[in-house]
Amino acid sequence: QPPVLEVKGLTTEFLGRKKAVTVVDGIDFTVQKGETLGIVGESGCGKSVTSLSIMRLLGKNGKVVAGRVLFEGKDILQLEEKEMRTIRGNRLAMIFQEPMTSLNPVLTIGRQIGEVLQLHTSLGQEERKRRATRLIEQVGIPRAQEIYGEYPHRLSGGMRQRVMIAMAMACRPQLLIADEPTTALDVTIQAQMLGLIREMREETGMSVMLITHDLGVVAEMCDRVLVMYAGQVIESADVRTLLRHPKHPYTQGLIRSVPQHSRGGKRLYAIAGNVPSPGEWPAGCRFAPRCSEAMPICHQRRPELLNMPDGSACRCWLHDASGAAEGRDLH
Ligand code: SF4
Ligand code: MG
Repeated sequence: QPPVLEVKGLTTEFLGRKKAVTVVDGIDFTVQKGETLGIVGESGCGKSVTSLSIMRLLGKNGKVVAGRVLFEGKDILQLEEKEMRTIRGNRLAMIFQEPMTSLNPVLTIGRQIGEVLQLHTSLGQEERKRRATRLIEQVGIPRAQEIYGEYPHRLSGGMRQRVMIAMAMACRPQLLIADEPTTALDVTIQAQMLGLIREMREETGMSVMLITHDLGVVAEMCDRVLVMYAGQVIESADVRTLLRHPKHPYTQGLIRSVPQHSRGGKRLYAIAGNVPSPGEWPAGCRFAPRCSEAMPICHQRRPELLNMPDGSACRCWLHDASGAAEGRDLH
């Protein structure tokens, strides 16, 4: 079966004050049917820009300058905006970090869900209203009839997030892109949200691309994981391999910095330093300034993403078997 999503060499630039800077730098990945792919990394690594590039929602300052995004075999970067609109919010849906920015403040909740149904189904008005109310119930919002007529600002953050999920469910997507869908929510609501995504996935067989910095969420939800750093994929593996045998020092750092429940949720470790800004990426390995294992070559030459014997892939000179790190092929 062909993958639902195939991203090849995706490169995205943003217009800075003076010039365009690369934010996503030639990334490749696929999402198979029914699969949940996690994308992890600190903020500023290009995770959200990757998803906005796929959705073609970059805004006027962002631009995909190279690569292909094959959704169900079709390069959606080549589609007319009109065609793209029939896919977006239909076969391809996205839920965002901050739902307030993606809900229309002047339309009632019922009207917004109704519009999704109107756009993507042939249901009549009464039937749309019934379906919308049922969707509101399904995402666990009490008093669905009342909420149907409410405006977004009258709802809590958690409720708005549920509305976003209801809208995504309304269109039964093949692929749901969820960008930090639970970050702003408290732990209980977070768990409910993830439960909803799981239910929807089981019910419809949809694929999910889940962007998160929370490795607990990854462990619970994902089949496979990509780790991004400074615009690149630096490691990819199935979830068990990644969590048990992380290879890249950055991934190891992320796993070590997960707060320990046994210590009252305290963080015992944090990776020193900060993610470099786009436009200020170091010449060699982009993680080198923060890496405790950096070698001379790391500051000079950029490592490639190499396939490992266990099926994972890693971009680090420590895992390069060519001998370059020992200087054997340096002239
Ligand atoms: Fe660290 Fe070098 Fe590996 Fe980069 S390539 S992660 S600097 S060891
Ligand atoms: Mg983000």
